[in-house]
Amino acid sequence: MTVMPNSTEARDIAYQLHPLVDLRNYGKTGALVIERGEGVYVYDNAGNRYIEGLAGLWSVAVGFGETRLSDVAKRQMDQLAYYHIFAHKTHGPSVDLAEKLIQMAPVPMSKVHFTSSGSEANDLVVKMTWYRSNALGKPAKKKIIGRVKGYHGVTIAAGSITGLPRNHESFDLPLDRMRHVSCPDYAGSALPGESEAEFSRRMAAELEALIQAEGPDTVAAFFGEPVMASGGVYVPPETYWREIQAVLRRHDVLLIADEVICGFGRTGAMFGCETFGIEPDVMVLSKQISSSYMPLSAILMNERFYEPIADESERRGVFGHGYTASGHPVATAVGLENIRIIEERDLVGNCRRLSPLFLERLAGLAEHRHAKAWRGVGLIGAVELKPWARAGAAGAALQAAAQAEGVIARAIGDSLCFCPPLIITADQVNAMFDAVGRALDAIA
Ligand code: PLP
Repeated sequence: MTVMPNSTEARDIAYQLHPLVDLRNYGKTGALVIERGEGVYVYDNAGNRYIEGLAGLWSVAVGFGETRLSDVAKRQMDQLAYYHIFAHKTHGPSVDLAEKLIQMAPVPMSKVHFTSSGSEANDLVVKMTWYRSNALGKPAKKKIIGRVKGYHGVTIAAGSITGLPRNHESFDLPLDRMRHVSCPDYAGSALPGESEAEFSRRMAAELEALIQAEGPDTVAAFFGEPVMASGGVYVPPETYWREIQAVLRRHDVLLIADEVICGFGRTGAMFGCETFGIEPDVMVLSKQISSSYMPLSAILMNERFYEPIADESERRGVFGHGYTASGHPVATAVGLENIRIIEERDLVGNCRRLSPLFLERLAGLAEHRHAKAWRGVGLIGAVELKPWARAGAAGAALQAAAQAEGVIARAIGDSLCFCPPLIITADQVNAMFDAVGRALDAIA
């Protein structure tokens, strides 16, 4: 790459520390500078157009350049750009969105607390889980179980629940209260002759054995994404969640559904919990809640979770937690308008209607000589390549070739992942996969 002196590219290399790169060698390749977006497309600073096959970071449900969201943000900024919800203060936008989320929740929920990112929300759920165990007079009940390849963010607690070595190594994670069970990757890890139902029972038995080995009185909560996304898109078998929930109920372990990617239509229902029959105690929402036009996340909690926490705060005289930006008025106003758009334009229905085409095209890619498998549900999926000498090299090559063909998608290991805006059309789905097909032909 030629980098012109003083260009955005050069100043980016000079001044910015980026996530998920080799920092020392970042300057050798630098970054693609994205300048604007419209619908499912983004444009770079040379005017090239790309289909955003990952909706940014799995998040821009309503597409780019949605003026209803910029209009609502401007109106709210003009009226009240900032206020907080600490200590007996509140404002309309946070109340309106909290009410809407309680009404939408697929299982009865009592309260909403807003945060600004998925990591922050999961981190706070851990803190609240510990607070709750103390409130119940069970100070030993603090361990949290996540899953290998699960992704819940990068703060110290959320990063510890995440099951990806690259997010732990050299950061001194995970915390010693965190445990992990296997990823429900049936295609990749079923035993010979094992049915999906048998595999699900084995996953549940592994969880139960872990809880018993640790002691049920020490295990507080289990975190799971309905569909694992950032670990490489793993869709669990149909009976997996039913089996897991039965174990959690037997041992009085809370179920935290991390809906940060699945929430607001991604799996073909409004929430991933509906698609997979999950009845969580807590739901964590972010990304498509505001289409990431503003940083926003929400924790929805049921009575079983909330009530002991309320009791403890009464005993202590205060719930000792809060962020400056909790319930931010512009973010919550944008979130509500975004959800209205998702409902009015029936984007969940669009996901359901286009899913068969999306999955068929993914399955088609998996027939290619470089590919070995595909996974997906709704409008989220991945095609997995046969590995080259170095793990991840084939995925990286396909990501680069797809970008050259005008599609931005995300390689996770040797899987290329797709999660396009929910406004995508059938023609655009076809154009996206046609381009990725050409990219597959082009790699070595
Ligand atoms: N939970 C899930 C399921 C996610 O996919 C992500 C981010 O990709 C997070 C949590 C963390 O969210 P954030 O990056 O906003 O902190």
